[in-house]
Amino acid sequence: MKSLFENAFENAPIGMALVSKEGNWLKVNKSLCTIVGYSETELLAINFQKITHPDDLDKDLSLLHEILDGKRETYKLEKRYIHKNKEIIWIQLSVSLVRDANNEPAYFISQIEDITENKKISDQLKKAIEVKSRFLANMSHEIRTPLNGIIGLASLSLDEKLTEEVKGNLEHIRSSSECLLNILNDVLDLSKLEANKTVFKKEDFELENLVKTSLAIFYPLAKSKGLLLDYEVDMNISMFCRGDETRIKQLIYNLVGNALKFTNHGYVKLKVDLERRSENGQYIVMSIEDTGIGIEKENITKILTPFEQVDSSNAREFGGTGLGLAICEKIVNAMEGKISIDSVVGKGTTIKAFFQLENGKKVITKENKSTSNVDLDVDADINKVLVAEDNAVNRLVVKKQLKKLGINEIDFAVNGKEAVKMALCDRYSLILMDIQMPEMDGYEATQIIKDKAPYQATIIGFSANVFNDDKQKGFSVGMDGFLEKPVDLNSLAEVLSVNKRNRLGFTPAVK
Ligand code: ADP
Repeated sequence: MKSLFENAFENAPIGMALVSKEGNWLKVNKSLCTIVGYSETELLAINFQKITHPDDLDKDLSLLHEILDGKRETYKLEKRYIHKNKEIIWIQLSVSLVRDANNEPAYFISQIEDITENKKISDQLKKAIEVKSRFLANMSHEIRTPLNGIIGLASLSLDEKLTEEVKGNLEHIRSSSECLLNILNDVLDLSKLEANKTVFKKEDFELENLVKTSLAIFYPLAKSKGLLLDYEVDMNISMFCRGDETRIKQLIYNLVGNALKFTNHGYVKLKVDLERRSENGQYIVMSIEDTGIGIEKENITKILTPFEQVDSSNAREFGGTGLGLAICEKIVNAMEGKISIDSVVGKGTTIKAFFQLENGKKVITKENKSTSNVDLDVDADINKVLVAEDNAVNRLVVKKQLKKLGINEIDFAVNGKEAVKMALCDRYSLILMDIQMPEMDGYEATQIIKDKAPYQATIIGFSANVFNDDKQKGFSVGMDGFLEKPVDLNSLAEVLSVNKRNRLGFTPAVK
């Protein structure tokens, strides 16, 4: 009669084997034979090296040797076998060592699980995520290009002499387009965060100042709703931190924005407390407390899922895409933290973001630049600008914007080829270069101009492609900066003045 253990070994639903120190199969079970397509006799005549995919052999052998050398007890490895019919099988291998009475290595016990199907599914998933990212990049480009025209022309027209009614209409056009742009940015942002394509910056900042400036934009809304908006920062926190300031602001904007949206009486309070110190920084808890409508228990997990809202009916009262909290969770996760939600319907909600911040250096806080206050005399040195842009409306927008900034000599190229020709025949103080253009794209045109122009041409990428990869590609072909469409007057003015400082040798190119 077979022992219980023998029965368990032979009939186990996953592959099991005893393997000699040299790799010969000593004993194999039925499941292993099914996985690799060999009979028991065939397997016992060969070693595992023979059926291992050549690209996975070194890794497997080196882990085995680590066990034999006493550096580890066990190992797990995803690897490939070649089936008898030559097909590739993905397996999850777990190996441990059995020692003899003298504590010398005797043989290995291996467990082998067929994960080929799972691998196929995860490969398909990876491909689907890639397709989604590419689709979003294209969609972003296609939507941003006309938005540049709409926002740009609405903003410029608002400066003309207009009747109150027309002015009101233009304001609506501008704010609706900006709202559309925000949604587009959220969708893109989440997709980048999900694909782990977001690089978190490390910059020094002062935490209390960040909280104060982030809240500043909300006071008019709070006042108009009759709500008290307040903040409190724990004095035990080290205020000079290092991390991604923009992402933390985004977190505050989303959470405070929601709290104000869903509260009609009472207050919204932001508190920052020290949780504990860590090796090179501190864990903090940022809680946003409101006395608003609250969230039912069963909806709390749902709302952290992208596109989910408590009320998704057509008649819902509040706008939004259901992306804000999902983005916040991804941001906090990237800072080794998590989000928790406490809520009582009719009483209010407290959302806590718990995350880590490294210690930073003391920073001198810059004055926040007013967006409506553009320095129109940006750069007296800039006389002639070339704009390479294939979209006629966007050519009109940038022409009006440049004129407003005091630049009157503006030439246009409608594709990369034309831009190269013009840039090589003339001398431009600045070239604004669209990326996607017919005949020749902006990357190639930039490379040729940088190579061949008899003067040092400053080229600023000027594009609706806003993925980091696009910008990196721009910098790698020699672009000196990058402007994202829709381009506002302030950013354009900044590029022009940074360009001036660059030429005088003060600052590196804008990024
Ligand atoms: P959005 O607000 O754009 O719809 P979010 O992901 O930020 O997307 O929020 C998802 C949903 O969670 C909201 O639509 C709302 O139903 C609920 N919610 C979020 N914050 C609060 C809050 N402070 N009070 C009540 N409900 C909230």
